[in-house]
Parts: sequence; C-alpha cells; structure tokens
Amino acid sequence: MAKYIFVTGGVTSSLGKGIIAASLAKLLQSRGLKVTIQKFDPYLNVDPGTLNPYEHGECYVTDDGAETDLDLGHYERFLNMPTSQANNVTTGRIYQTVINKEREGEYLGKTVQVIPHVTDEIKRRMLLLGETGKFDIIITELGGTVGDIESLPFVEAVRQLQWEMAEEDCLVLHLTLIPYLKAAKELKTKPTQHSVRLLSQEGVHPDVIVCRTEHPLTDDLKRKIALFCNVKPNAVIEAMDAGTIYEVPLKMLQEGLDVIVLKKLHINGYAAPDLNKWESFLSILKKPKGKVTIGLIGKYVELQDAYKSILEAFIHAGVVNECEVKIVNVHSEHIHADNVAQQLKDLDGLLVAPGFGSRGVEGKIEAVKYAREAKLPFFGICLGMQMAVIEFARNVMGWKGAHSTEMDSNATHPVIALMDEQKKVKKKGGTMRLGAYPCKIEEGSMAFKIYGSNDISERHRHRWEFNNQFLDEFTKSGLISSGKNPLNGLVEIVEIKDHPFFIGVQYHPELKSTVENPHPLFVSFISAAKANAASRATSKTNLKTASA
Ligand code: GLN
Repeated sequence: MAKYIFVTGGVTSSLGKGIIAASLAKLLQSRGLKVTIQKFDPYLNVDPGTLNPYEHGECYVTDDGAETDLDLGHYERFLNMPTSQANNVTTGRIYQTVINKEREGEYLGKTVQVIPHVTDEIKRRMLLLGETGKFDIIITELGGTVGDIESLPFVEAVRQLQWEMAEEDCLVLHLTLIPYLKAAKELKTKPTQHSVRLLSQEGVHPDVIVCRTEHPLTDDLKRKIALFCNVKPNAVIEAMDAGTIYEVPLKMLQEGLDVIVLKKLHINGYAAPDLNKWESFLSILKKPKGKVTIGLIGKYVELQDAYKSILEAFIHAGVVNECEVKIVNVHSEHIHADNVAQQLKDLDGLLVAPGFGSRGVEGKIEAVKYAREAKLPFFGICLGMQMAVIEFARNVMGWKGAHSTEMDSNATHPVIALMDEQKKVKKKGGTMRLGAYPCKIEEGSMAFKIYGSNDISERHRHRWEFNNQFLDEFTKSGLISSGKNPLNGLVEIVEIKDHPFFIGVQYHPELKSTVENPHPLFVSFISAAKANAASRATSKTNLKTASA
C-alpha cells in the first residue's frame, strides 16, 4: 500500500512548495523508493490552460495532453519521470465532477454539499495514484496558503484522510517563512506559530515544519519553533535560500528531512541515497568553464515563470556543454528593423519563444531574419517556428503577404494555417492539439544528427500548423521539413541548410528536458552557440592583432 505525504504552505505564497516537494521526492527516489508528486490547485478553472502566463506562469503539458501547473515541470525535471492528468487537480475539476454526478442522479435524494460530496471527490482523487500499485509514496502539494478560504475543502480532505489512515501511513509537511527583521537583527518565528495554529484550527497538525529563511536557524530557534508548534526539534527543518533550485535536495539531505519522513512512515530497510548523477550535474553547474549568451525573444519576458521550462532546459544543456547559459530577455514588441542588429549583435544564439496572438510577432519575425542572415544559431519553438516559416516566405521567397491566419485571416500566402481538426472547435478549454505525438525524422537532416534516431515523440500545444499546400515551394527554396507526423503528415521540424544551426519545431522540446536527460535539441543549440562565441572571440583577437 502506498503512503501519503501532504505538503501545505503558510505565511505567504511563493515559498517554493513545489521545489521542496520535488526535493523530498528526489531524496526518497534516490533511496530506491517509487515516488510521484501531485498538485491540487484551489482555483475554479478546470485547468490552467485558459490562464494567461501573467496570471499563472507557464502552462506545462504532459504526455497525455493535460494542461497543468508549472510545478509538474519541476516534478518531472527532478524525478526524471513523466506525470499525467492525474497529477494535477483543480477545484474547478472537482466541482465539475461533482456537478456532473449530481445531474446524472448519483446523489439522488440527497442535498449535495461541500462536506461530504466535494471533500469525498477530493479524497478520491488524492488516493487515485496510490491505488495504481505503481508507487510507494505519493506526495500531494496543496496550492495556495493555509487560511485562504478557497483551500479549506482541501485541508479538510487532508484532515479526514489523516484521521482515516494509520499514523504511519501519512505525514503532513508544512512549509513556512521565518522572516528576518533587519532593524532588530532577528529572525522571527511568530508568523510560523500563527500559521501552524491556523492549520491546527482547521484540524490538521503538521509532523514536519520546513522553514524558508535567509539566515541559518540556531538550535535555540529550532527548539522554540518546535515547542510552540508542537513538533520534535529534529522535525524543524531549515531551508536556506539556495543559489539554484537544484541544490535544494542536497540541502534537505543535510538537514535529514528524508530520514525524519522515513521514520514517521515506518519505512525500514531503505538504501543509502544514490545522488551521484545529481551531484556531478550540480558541481558542473556551479563551476562552469565558459559562458554563452542567448537571446530569449518573447512577449512575456518580464515574467520569469512564463518560460520556466525553456529556462530550465537551458540550464541542463549548459551543464552538458560545461558552460553557463546567460539569458538576455528581449521583448519582441521592442524589436524593429532599424534596431534589431543593435539589440541582437552581442548574442551567441537566439531562441524565439512560443506564444499566442499578434502582439509582438513582427518583432519576432525581424529577429529571425537577423539570425538567418547573420548566421546566428537560431532555435524556434512553436510560435517561434511559425515565425521562421513566415520570415522565410516573406524575405527569401518574396511572398510579402505571407502570414499565419492566426494573425491575418486574409493573408495572401497563409503559410501557417489552422489545422483541419481545429476548424470546428469553438470552446477554448482543453481543445488545442495537446500532448505527445510521434514524429518521423528525415535521415541526413540536422534533426536526425541531433536526435540520432528516426522516431521521436514530443509534446504539443497549438492550433495552427505549417500549411502543407506550400511545402514543395519551401523545399525548393531551401527551407526543408525534416520531421513530420507519420500519421497525418503535419510538419513538426523545419530547418535550413548553409547555416550553423537553424531549427524550428512545432512541438515543445523544453517540456521533456530533465537533469538526468537534457534535451538533445537544447544541448546542440548551446553547443552551436558556444562554437559561435569562440569564433567571434577569435575574429575579435585577429582584428586587434591586425590593427596593432
Ligand atoms: N499560437 C500558435 C498556435 O496556436 C502557437 C502556439 C504556441 O506557441 N504554443 O498554433
């Protein structure tokens, strides 16, 4: 039978519950246990697919096509294991199920209420992955902060489960903040005491308290927190701010978080943690030998979380190349023909990001043109790939009116067009082309060299596609389709020859990059950027020597 760990958050949001949950999961996994993590989000959207990135950061997509919270990305990157729709549940999904059941007559004769009907549905979903028999431990992260009205039913469901389960089958970990008051030169425990009291009032008593802090916690302070929050002193864990999220599992190991958890859950005979791969990744990450500068062209660049998986995939690829990847955010709305060279001239590579709608697309097209002409390594993802196709049509093939029908429904050359299956779609939620699809790669292409395989599978989230009506003309002009869906011929990868690296992909490779399996496209792109940086440095030196 699986055991359950619930992770709640107190005091404030943004404490990094997802990273703490993923770090604990990593430690347990490194000791040979089978672990998965799920996230329960307290908002009414059925999934985050209808939220814009400013509201919620990136929407992460799983193999089975679920549009999910970005924390699932952390779970996959840490555990090197895919998640699925079952790993992310929102209040909206819970209510939708309960209301549908009510309409079907499943509760006939009864008043349908938050307790027990909504909480029963939450509990059913909390236990679902544990019932598959595939896992020893299920970690459930509760979104939101304890005390929020909207998280009450979730906390109540945890209370009931804690009551129903044997002591050794479940554990509650509460993550809080210990603020440092500069004027008093003191760390303050009161907000944590209050937040634990609030949680206790809701009927849930934490077994472990993890404290985010900017300064180390003394033993005295830990004792004080333990005493007032009614846990043992060794169950108060310090979570100091880390230089990188990938350091957190090791910090938690030092603090003994995994051992406390294993003891409470009566799990014996576990192996010593095997974190060799993780540690060598971290040591290269912390001491890179060189640096490449990559321009990230997007319209949500002011928000860190909007391109989360892309940024993490760059970190993984940087480690393989033993270099730091410095990201320069360039807002696509600020790029114009007369300033593009000035803005992009110091970059070693350029990534044009995914996106929706027309804001900023002309800037993206200018950026692609610059990268193509200046032979700057270029990588386009989803909308970024579509922009590369439009740029090529306009500037190489001379089709000045080429566009995507997403932005211009009357384009003279609709080189990016709505997929047939999308034409009848009216509803917005969960109706894009989502999840994993196969792709057949052309032998001899750059993509083939990079993947080292003919058959790949990658995840999607889009409605528009390369318009195959124009494929022959593109091929003749030098933009080839090196990867296609073998079942319906949809173009998945485009590339151009006579360029050090120019690849656009309709799918989202960033969603599959993990610490232990960095994505080959990101790795090759960074390697091309590194070569570019080296050759630019040599030509600069040559120039200096010549003029001396
Ligand atoms: N807006 C484009 C489409 O729907 C691209 C989507 C994306 O970049 N994820 O096809």
